[in-house]
Amino acid sequence: MSKKVFLSGVQPSGKPHIGNYFGALKQFVDLQNEHDGYVFIADYHALHSLRNAKEMKKNIISVLLDYLAIGLDPEKVTFFKQSDISEHTELAWIFDTITTMPYLMRAHAFKDAEAKNKEIDVGTFNYPVLMAADILLYAPDVVPVGADQKQHVEIARDIAEKFNHTYGETFKLPEPMIVKDVAVVLGTDGKKMSKSYGNTIPLFASYDEIKKCVMGIVTDSGGGIPQNVYAIHNLLRPASELLPLYESKAGKYKELKEMLIEDLEKFIAPLRTRRKEFEKDIPKALKILKEGSGKAKKIASLKMKEIREKIGVKVY
Ligand code: ATP
Ligand code: MG
Repeated sequence: MSKKVFLSGVQPSGKPHIGNYFGALKQFVDLQNEHDGYVFIADYHALHSLRNAKEMKKNIISVLLDYLAIGLDPEKVTFFKQSDISEHTELAWIFDTITTMPYLMRAHAFKDAEAKNKEIDVGTFNYPVLMAADILLYAPDVVPVGADQKQHVEIARDIAEKFNHTYGETFKLPEPMIVKDVAVVLGTDGKKMSKSYGNTIPLFASYDEIKKCVMGIVTDSGGGIPQNVYAIHNLLRPASELLPLYESKAGKYKELKEMLIEDLEKFIAPLRTRRKEFEKDIPKALKILKEGSGKAKKIASLKMKEIREKIGVKVY
């Protein structure tokens, strides 16, 4: 029997943080042994927030090094770059024609942008459709993501069902995989940790950076257990160990933060070292990406042939 498939992606929109790691990246590492993995760099998605060619290039390479440094094995996981596979945008167009505006208007990301009164670009509105194409081309069984992406995987399922219903069985319905305790990792301000909110603890932070981030964690003045500090600490140590410690040191915010700094350093230091190693040979990392894109392209173009046949545009 062939192995199950997982697929997921990360935008090259900035430095990854421990929320990305515990919410999504760690699952990729865990899944790679039992699954065929497809992990992509979602560069076309990042165009919403990043409109600087130099920075885009830098970030793409950076995400690639991050993937390698966390322990994803190119023998087990196919890394690829979304923009290398034109089938993603091609399929997104076909999906556009079977997806209604009112349906997409119910998406959280759109509603949030609308609530902020932003002038919403068509790409932001359409984001879930491109993501549906990203996923469905590769027929994954599971899509490991943080809770903020759950709705997008559901939209991909809905679009797959609509297509299958309209043109005949073509797409496998993917399942989101969301790990309960880390579904939403909170940032230093108590809101969802996000690259775009400036409230992160970077996954490859230096010791000084860790210190600065932890000292900046917002605490209440109640004198009890500092919830924001505890929540981050709980990613690294189980509650059974941590709770008695926090109870015995209730109100001692500085001491608790110092303990968190040391635990974060223990967790991050080996990751930092591994990343430095990969940084030494960027051409080698790029070769891995290019080969992965070649492999993904074959799968995507084969699927696209089937789709063109199903919709009736293939006449020779
Ligand atoms: P941006 O602010 O640019 O959207 P982000 O921090 O949300 O960045 P993404 O690249 O959008 O990061 O997400 C990468 C993966 O990490 C996704 O699977 C997403 O669900 C997950 N993720 C992001 N933030 C968190 C978080 N705070 N807790 C758990 N998972 C998260
Ligand atoms: Mg995000």
